[in-house]
Amino acid sequence: MRAIVLGSAAGGGFPQWNCGCPSCVAVREGRAGLEKRTQDSIAFTSTEGRGELAPRFAIVNCSPDILSQIQATRALWPKAARHTPIGAIILTNGDLDHVLGLFSLRESQPLAIYATESVWRGIEASVFVRTLKRFEGQVVFRPLDLDRPVELANAAGEALGLRVRAFALPGKLPVHLMGHGEPSPEDNVGLAIGEPHRPTIAYAAACATADVDLAGDSALFFDGTFYREDELRRLGLSESLAKDMAHVPIDGPEGSLAKLASVTARKIYTHINNTNPILVPGSDERRTVEAAGWEVAFDGMEIEV
Ligand SMILES: [Zn+2]
Ligand SMILES: [Zn+2]
Repeated sequence: MRAIVLGSAAGGGFPQWNCGCPSCVAVREGRAGLEKRTQDSIAFTSTEGRGELAPRFAIVNCSPDILSQIQATRALWPKAARHTPIGAIILTNGDLDHVLGLFSLRESQPLAIYATESVWRGIEASVFVRTLKRFEGQVVFRPLDLDRPVELANAAGEALGLRVRAFALPGKLPVHLMGHGEPSPEDNVGLAIGEPHRPTIAYAAACATADVDLAGDSALFFDGTFYREDELRRLGLSESLAKDMAHVPIDGPEGSLAKLASVTARKIYTHINNTNPILVPGSDERRTVEAAGWEVAFDGMEIEV
């Protein structure tokens, strides 16, 4: 299986349109070594031979940047007059940076969307969802039950040759739904995805704690939103702590660097907020995570397991 990181930034992207933090200023000005990043998304595909027009890709999360992400990724370009190699979209939660792109994928293209019932209910509450329901079968919703692996297929039922298992991750309801529903373990999930009976990749891009069992996968993409618990306060950007936003920081005794030290899989931070100093090559924080064996995802990064 092959994975292509479509977007490696947290909500807001890098640079963030209304942010004048030192890193956003530097990347906006094109300072050497800093790379622009779009919002969280990753594409998975089986490496087995498939027909030219076969559905090949499952996309995890559908960010507001999806159109430019597709444009930047040759493998996702149409292979016929009306065609997409994207067979399925999997949502890990209902945050806007993970779902807004759905409303850009109209153009009468049938879509298969995999999400937990709770995440799907949140999307159905939006009046915009009607733009995806203009004809019978435009959206085929397939529920993801926790810890029950499913074989992915496109809207027409053609298999992608990929299997995914969703597992609960401590998180929170999307900001726009807080106070409008009871929190559920299905609100925020991680995914283990792979070809059947082959190595898997775990994707846990939003997680409130690093006390999670992530053994058994060949590679792990993990929440790299914040380096420090009080990162936004230090920069004078917000009073919110990382935990207020349900993201475990990298640093500290409860941070992912310490807690996931024994995970032997290839480890990659993604969903990186524009304030996180690991975005700056040569920073102490970047050197610290690399010395601990972690990689830092970037848009266009490809890995194979
Ligand atoms: Zn996000
Ligand atoms: Zn910034």
